[in-house]
This record gives sequence, C-alpha cells and structure tokens, in this order.
Amino acid sequence: MTDTPRRHFASDNYAGICPEAWAAMAQANADHAPGYGDDPWTARAADLVRQVFETDCDVYFVFNGTSANSLALASLGQSYHSILCHEVAHVEVDECGAPEFFSNGMKVLTVPGAHGKVTPAAVEHAVRRRTDIHYPKPRAVSLTQATEVGTVYDPDELKAIWATARSLGLRIHMDGARFANAVAGLGVTPKEITWQAGVDVLSFGGTKNGLAVGEAVVFFDRALSREFDYRCKQAGQLASKMRFLAAPWVGMLQDGAWLRNARHANEMAALLDGLLRALPGVKVLQPRQANSVFAELPKPVVEALHAKGWRFYDFIAWGGCRLMCAWDTTEADVRAFTGDVRELMARPAGR
Ligand SMILES: *Cc1c(COP(=O)(O)O)cnc(C)c1O
Repeated sequence: MTDTPRRHFASDNYAGICPEAWAAMAQANADHAPGYGDDPWTARAADLVRQVFETDCDVYFVFNGTSANSLALASLGQSYHSILCHEVAHVEVDECGAPEFFSNGMKVLTVPGAHGKVTPAAVEHAVRRRTDIHYPKPRAVSLTQATEVGTVYDPDELKAIWATARSLGLRIHMDGARFANAVAGLGVTPKEITWQAGVDVLSFGGTKNGLAVGEAVVFFDRALSREFDYRCKQAGQLASKMRFLAAPWVGMLQDGAWLRNARHANEMAALLDGLLRALPGVKVLQPRQANSVFAELPKPVVEALHAKGWRFYDFIAWGGCRLMCAWDTTEADVRAFTGDVRELMARPAGR
C-alpha cells in the first residue's frame, strides 16, 4: 500500500457530514426538546420539504433507505400485491427482502430495461402476462431516481410510465436515495419529477447527499400515509430524539446545500467521465447523468489501483467498476485517480 488516498470512489456514503448539516446538529444540541418528532426542528424540516416540493405533502423521517423504501412500498397495498421494479433495483437486490418483510409478503417482481431504467412497455408486459388469481396482483411500480447505474429518468419518461401505470391501476414509488443528484443532473424542479409526474410516494435520500444518517418518506398522495407513523414505530424507525434526524435536514434544505452538494458531486463525476473516456483502453459503460461513472478497466489495472489504496466497487453483474463521487470529492481526487489509471494503463502487463 502506498499513499492511501483520503477520499474514495467506492460510495457516496463513504463521505462525511456536510458543514450545513453538522452546524444544524450543533444548534439542535443547545437545549431540551420534546421527543418522537414532537419538536420544532422536525416541524421545520417537514415544512422545508414541503417548500422544496411546492406542495402539501406528508413527511416522515427515518434512519435509512431500506426502511424508507420498504415502509413506503408496504403502504401502497396488501400482502397479496406485487411491486414492479428494475432487475437491478436496490429494493430487489440490496434490501435483504425488507420490502417483502415489512409488507407481510408483497412480492417484488423485476423487469428488464436498458441503463437501469423501467419502461412503460416492460411494466405493461409484467402486468398483462398474467391476470389470473394465482399471480400476485401488481399494485405499484418502484422507480430509482437516479438509477443504480447513475442514469436518470427525465420528466417525459416519467410521465410515460405514469400513463401506463394509471391505465393499469398501479401506484408509483420513487427510490430517491440519490434524488438530489437527479434534480441537479436534469436541471428540473423537484416537483417536475415527482408529483407532477405521478409519483405517489418518494424515499428522499439524505445520507448520500451529506447527512450522517436519515432519509425522508414523502407522501404526495396524503391518503396513502394513513397510520404511517405506526408503521414507522413498529419497524423501529421512530427516533426517540427525532430532532437529531430532523435538524440536519433543516441545515441541508434551508439554503439549498442539498442541491449544491449534488451539483458538485455530479460535476466531479462529469470530470471523471471525461478524463476516463480520453484514456485509450478504458470503456465507459453508461451515460454519465448523475454522480457516478461505470468504467471497464483491465483486471490487472483494477488490482493495481486497489493496491495503491483506491477503494471502489467492481460491479461484476453489470460489468465494470462503479466510481461514485460525493459532495466532498475534489478535482484533485479525480485527477489523482485518473492519473493513476493512465499510468497503470500505459504500463506493459506484468510489470
Ligand atoms: C444507498 C441506497 C439506498 C439506501 O440504502 P440503505 O443502506 O438502506 O440506507 C436505497 N436505494 C438506492 C438506490 C441506494 O443506492
């Protein structure tokens, strides 16, 4: 090991807490406040979420994305229903069956699609291929925005899925673990890719955007949030000192840090994308639309990068290395990494 770099490209959850979230946490620590969300910080954070989305939505703060997704999905139907999602969706491959568990048996059904995206045709096919009583009745579509492979759905793509979903009686959930990166990448307002495009409930990611911990579940169809507080409590997701989950959201949302963070992470990924594409022998696998780059590198180069101390994931199933930028990734980090890639690519094999 030489020169272990301080910042990595493994995940945006490797990054620390952004200054705005940290400062709000310190402010919330100044005094006593009621527990379980009955405090001014939680009220303010929920109001800020409503401001960001420009609508009167219901907002709940939970600890992580798995619970946000699982509990949101559970609120969309009954145990005999199914949820459609992309075959690489986090709810399918990275949640250890939590959506099925918290919904008491709703089945997650997967559909294929280029660039990690669900299409209207795939949704239609999954619903229409079986309509008998022996099949778990499709009830919702879950879309990841930005997707697991760093692409985004634009408002027209979302509206097309919505039209199909509506015609088939399906609700729409959005896994927005990287929602901020999608908003920044698309240059849209949050409402254009949520309730104005048919999204009923959003898992709004905070952790990867610069919080220590915490995601918000945002119900645009407020009828769906009925007794959601009980769902959270039962699932162990009702924070006793809720203000420490909520205050960092206030810090992030009140002056736009959430979007600055996302924009910066996206810009660093764009720089990384450009520098990697310029290297002969490196194949970039997905269009860069948010804060990640997927690149195919020769195996000895991957090994040598790891040996130099660079941390990143090898996504064997989808091909290539996943390189993720965060709110604190610097241009120097990106140049140091791509410099090492360039040097290793130029080296004859085995030396
Ligand atoms: C990180 C992530 C989540 C949240 O995961 P937790 O580890 O449960 O917080 C959800 N969806 C996607 C697409 C993610 O990348």
